[in-house]
Amino acid sequence: MSDRLEIAGRALQRPLCNHCLGRLFASVSRGLSNDQRGAIIRSSVADAPVSQASAAGCYICKGLFDEVQKFADLSVKASGGFEFNTFLVGTKIDAELIEREEAFWTETGAKETESIKSEMNREIGKVLEKRLGKIVDFANPELVFLTDTRFDQIVLDVAPLFVYGRYRKFSRELPQTRWICRECRGKGCPHCGGKGRMYEMSVQDYTGPIVMRHAEGTEDFFHGMGREDIDARMLGNGRPFVVEVRKPRKRAIDLEAMQREINQGAKGIVEVEGLRMSTRAEMRAIKESTHSKSYRVSVRFQADFDHGKLNEVVTSLAGKPISQQTPNRVVHRRADLERVRTVRRLEVESVKGREVVFIVEADSGTYIKELMHGDDGRTQPNVAGIVGVPCEVLELDVIAIGDKGE
Ligand SMILES: [Zn+2]
Ligand SMILES: [Zn+2]
Repeated sequence: MSDRLEIAGRALQRPLCNHCLGRLFASVSRGLSNDQRGAIIRSSVADAPVSQASAAGCYICKGLFDEVQKFADLSVKASGGFEFNTFLVGTKIDAELIEREEAFWTETGAKETESIKSEMNREIGKVLEKRLGKIVDFANPELVFLTDTRFDQIVLDVAPLFVYGRYRKFSRELPQTRWICRECRGKGCPHCGGKGRMYEMSVQDYTGPIVMRHAEGTEDFFHGMGREDIDARMLGNGRPFVVEVRKPRKRAIDLEAMQREINQGAKGIVEVEGLRMSTRAEMRAIKESTHSKSYRVSVRFQADFDHGKLNEVVTSLAGKPISQQTPNRVVHRRADLERVRTVRRLEVESVKGREVVFIVEADSGTYIKELMHGDDGRTQPNVAGIVGVPCEVLELDVIAIGDKGE
């Protein structure tokens, strides 16, 4: 203790407010504010040369703690019009002040200190909790008040809103996400027929803007658990997705009404279900997940063939690994590399002359069309190769996503 009294004695050679005095010993005891701790320390240093500094005269903060109420007022004003339950305060402090504080730690030998920034954040936060009736959340705040104490400015950081759901897609001409024209970047040019987009609509366009309108946000993003080809339907249990809306003003959303509105607007082309609130963490998990997918794929062979060959297809592929070189159709925009995927299940659903329908369950990321026609030998083994007759894919549907959802 005598050590601490010596430090306090040295510190009080300078005029200090109780906040800045108490902060030198911040980690000594819990349950006291620095302000309270400072007052106690001051009274125990009998021969303190400076008995009391006005806040404005404080050597370290020059009266910054007198402005806490003002910063809180500015924050309350900045939050106007935003619905939120949790928040966090961050502050920017004059670099000169911080240098002065750190030099003072060396000068006094104080080691149990807290930075002024951290105390400022907490003190503004305490006032705001009372004023707003909301709580500070360090992990996932919905609003962050970035307080620049030098210029009395508040920058408001609004956490995005995330909505989870599953979608089915009944069109073979609909991409999953908005597809802006690469030539004109959306302005409209001959390449895109003046529309700025390669496809007028997408699953994103049927969902995102409606979520955005309900949340009164500024921008929407669509995150799917993988994606199907534009010409593949998405059936069965539907594909999990998360819509992200930036800068939402509303967070209490009538999800059922929103779901009805999406489904009415999408007129049977897209259908969503199970809408609920989500989080950034879930969005990331969905994007990174690697569940298997099941497909129905119908194929036409170029010539008649021995149907007995289909047994060979099943025995050669079901439960077996296959090697896939990046398909010809995407190699212009993706790295050309080999990947090994497992065909977990392969069954023949129906055979009619040269046309065969297969049910395939395969690892996430398997190229199913290429598994059928072989892609000039880039996928090995492949159905056409085993049958000995080239084939083309007529239709492809995703019929199940292998996550737990129903
Ligand atoms: Zn001070
Ligand atoms: Zn264009």
